Amino acid sequence: MRKLALHWQILIGMLLGIGFGFLMTSFDWGKEFVADWIGPFGKIFVNLLKLIAIPLIIASLIKGISDLKDISKFRNIGLKTIAIYICTTVIAITIGLLLVNIIEPGNGISEETVAKLKETYANDESIKSKIMEASKDRGPLEFLVDMVPDNAIKAMGDNRSMLQVIFFTMILGISLLLIGEKRARPLKDFFDSLNDVVLKMVDLIMLTAPFAVFALLAQVVVTADDPEILTKLLSYSMVVVSGLLLMIVFYAIVVAVYTKKNPIWFLKQLSPAQLLAFSTSSSAATLPVTMERVEEHIGVDKEVSSFVLPVGATINMDGTSLYQAVAAVFIMQVLWPEGLTFSNQIYIVLTALLASIGSAAVPGAGMVMLVIVLEAIEFPKDLYPVALALIFAVDRPLDMCRTVINVTGDATVSTVVAKSVGKLGEPKPKEWDDHYEEVK
Ligand code: ASP
Repeated sequence: MRKLALHWQILIGMLLGIGFGFLMTSFDWGKEFVADWIGPFGKIFVNLLKLIAIPLIIASLIKGISDLKDISKFRNIGLKTIAIYICTTVIAITIGLLLVNIIEPGNGISEETVAKLKETYANDESIKSKIMEASKDRGPLEFLVDMVPDNAIKAMGDNRSMLQVIFFTMILGISLLLIGEKRARPLKDFFDSLNDVVLKMVDLIMLTAPFAVFALLAQVVVTADDPEILTKLLSYSMVVVSGLLLMIVFYAIVVAVYTKKNPIWFLKQLSPAQLLAFSTSSSAATLPVTMERVEEHIGVDKEVSSFVLPVGATINMDGTSLYQAVAAVFIMQVLWPEGLTFSNQIYIVLTALLASIGSAAVPGAGMVMLVIVLEAIEFPKDLYPVALALIFAVDRPLDMCRTVINVTGDATVSTVVAKSVGKLGEPKPKEWDDHYEEVK
């Protein structure tokens, strides 16, 4: 097992998990067996990854900032990162809108299917609470207020407050830089060492990845929805997936043209993170692995990756924004064709950008934030539950796919930013054995 590259081990784990899940659905007791005895191992793995996400962000961001000798470099990297993130998201939304308008998947949905979906999901309490959650009245600058924590410890205690933690850590790192080398030394050494320890924890946790993805995917398969409805929504799903694949092509071109790295090599180096993104549907849970792959296997310097990746995991969601654009237009095609105006499509570009920034990096967040897009285009309020019911059945598989793109987008941007500031070097992969040797 040790000899086989990590991405193959994970892929085999995933395929076996899917196969096992299908096998179990054919027994009466199968679903329960998977839920009771297999699923928990997947949850443990995701918890472990989330457990180290916050310490990793803090340690590596402080290391990244305090290694910069000059604060203006940080400003440079920061502005560039945010600008590129916004560009890639707008490109993703545009691709989504073009595809959904050309292919028109909503026109193939029959009245009966809509009726069946309404019946199955419209009174679903979880859908109703999702709508309530997203449609709180909020002022235009509320997102800025949200970024600034009033209690650092509380922010660190909640995985959804990653931006707050980044904000606090940035001020800490910058202040460390400002008090001068000598006085900063003890704290800097502490965080450097913490950073190494957390990266070691990532290695240890990753040893279990092939088994964990088996559990995660077996669980996904046994809880999948009615397959009949899935086929009805096939063309909508295909539009989303095609858009996501086009994004991969786009990233590959950017990597090849701008960074002069071989895109196939790039994707291969990143693949363990992508496979985990697919299995966990969470860019936050995948973050520790994304950081490790980008730094050690692609060659991005910590100065860049430690800032670009955690920020990206929270605000840059190309896959989610593409999905939200397609979903909004698809919903209009089925339920509200008169709303399909050009100006509404422009609104979708703006609001899907904001909604994807606002989506938490956890499973299903993208669908909840879709409510913001629907509100902006003044979609009839009484149809909200039906709208979400319509896309709910296929949300999980699409979530798995869009999370892969979210993670790939962050990795691509970090490579581009690194190249632009001369911080893209040669990879220095440390496999488990090397780490072990080093410790010895
Ligand atoms: N699951 C996605 C992520 O973590 C967010 C979403 O689109 O639901 O990146």
